[in-house]
Amino acid sequence: MKYFSTNNRHQLTGFAQALVQGLPDDNGLFFPESIPLTLENSFESLSLAELGAHMLSPFVESDIDRSSLERICSEALSFPIPVVEVEPGISALELFHGPTLAFKDVGARFLARMIRQVTDEKLTVLVATSGDTGSAVANGFYGVEGIDVVILYPSGKISDIQEKQLTTMGGNVRAIEVEGVFDDCQRLVKQAFLDDSLRQKINLTSANSINIMRWIPQSIYYAWAIGQMQSDNSITISVPSGNFGNLAAGVLAMKMGAPIGRFIAATNANHIVPDYIETGVYTPASSVATISNAMDVGDPSNFPRLLELFDNDHYQLKEKLHGYWQNDEKTLSTIRACSAYNHYTLDPHGAIAYQAIVEKRDPAEEYLFLETAHPSKFKDVIDEALGSDIAIPGRLADCLSKTKEATLMPADYDQFVDYLCS
Ligand SMILES: *Cc1c(COP(=O)(O)O)cnc(C)c1O
Repeated sequence: MKYFSTNNRHQLTGFAQALVQGLPDDNGLFFPESIPLTLENSFESLSLAELGAHMLSPFVESDIDRSSLERICSEALSFPIPVVEVEPGISALELFHGPTLAFKDVGARFLARMIRQVTDEKLTVLVATSGDTGSAVANGFYGVEGIDVVILYPSGKISDIQEKQLTTMGGNVRAIEVEGVFDDCQRLVKQAFLDDSLRQKINLTSANSINIMRWIPQSIYYAWAIGQMQSDNSITISVPSGNFGNLAAGVLAMKMGAPIGRFIAATNANHIVPDYIETGVYTPASSVATISNAMDVGDPSNFPRLLELFDNDHYQLKEKLHGYWQNDEKTLSTIRACSAYNHYTLDPHGAIAYQAIVEKRDPAEEYLFLETAHPSKFKDVIDEALGSDIAIPGRLADCLSKTKEATLMPADYDQFVDYLCS
């Protein structure tokens, strides 16, 4: 498989190079030159890891042999991803049973293992995070020989638990606390990748959701969920979205042949994409802080991929993708209502995707929403909403007792470069 840039279809790059390089030189996003129809025939009998190898094989085959691919899939997908019925007709795909209790574990674990498989060069992984990416990536790469991880996060804009997860790992993982918003962090990282003189000194690689091996493996759990549900009805999947890597992976699974009817793009007050779906006009904005902070994104980095999946045709996209957004107040009342009626505790991200279904529901259809993080990662919000004292699972509680280690820095590119080169 070769990959083109969303800015230039004529420039093709092989799998291994696209993986290590992260971003094409022209600032587009890598995209597979063709989408294999691997899910056209039945796949329900495969285990999660087998399904992973089956789906990824055409994307990596020139560079990774089948037995290595199978090993990577069973290592990366070593935790359960259950479909749990929340109420009749609405199920949750629980993506939070991995090491950092968030769905980004899936992509991050694939990325780290794929990179180690194709190169043994010394590498620096740069990650901008709005919350969960950083700890998932750091965890994926933690202790991997010859790879340094540098995480940038917006000061005061992520939860205490998220900050502790990012700043207490030590080893090959360093954290920079940026005085700014997530988009500032993302800008610094993007600028570094476009900086030739920096790249001559340091071998940079990206671990953001723009990397093909963060993005494509996420399609596996969509097919997995459809296989678990075994529904005769058309299934609509609601996805809580920020940078839209997760949703773009769902659309990829659909294009690979998975029987998915439609998607709902569910966001918080950062409703750039729901607006685009409605109007056909894309207007990026500064991000607004919300209680579902992993989705506080004003210019979603995977948007060009989403367009590419629909042949850059707004009409096609609108057929398959519906938009929904809600504010924090509504998210709190959603969490309360779902707890009261269904005894199911939503996290602030999954809550928006759930509520989108409740409001747009057609009784003849079956619905799935993605639960992208464990609710205890947002303990303050959940406890406030429910008047509860939600228990924090052991692997999360451990880091809370450690001391934060981070470098505080303004959103200034020169200082960032000095830090990387020192
Ligand atoms: C990152 C994240 C999202 C958004 O995912 P995207 O792929 O960026 O759209 C949603 N929920 C949680 C908990 C996240 O960490």
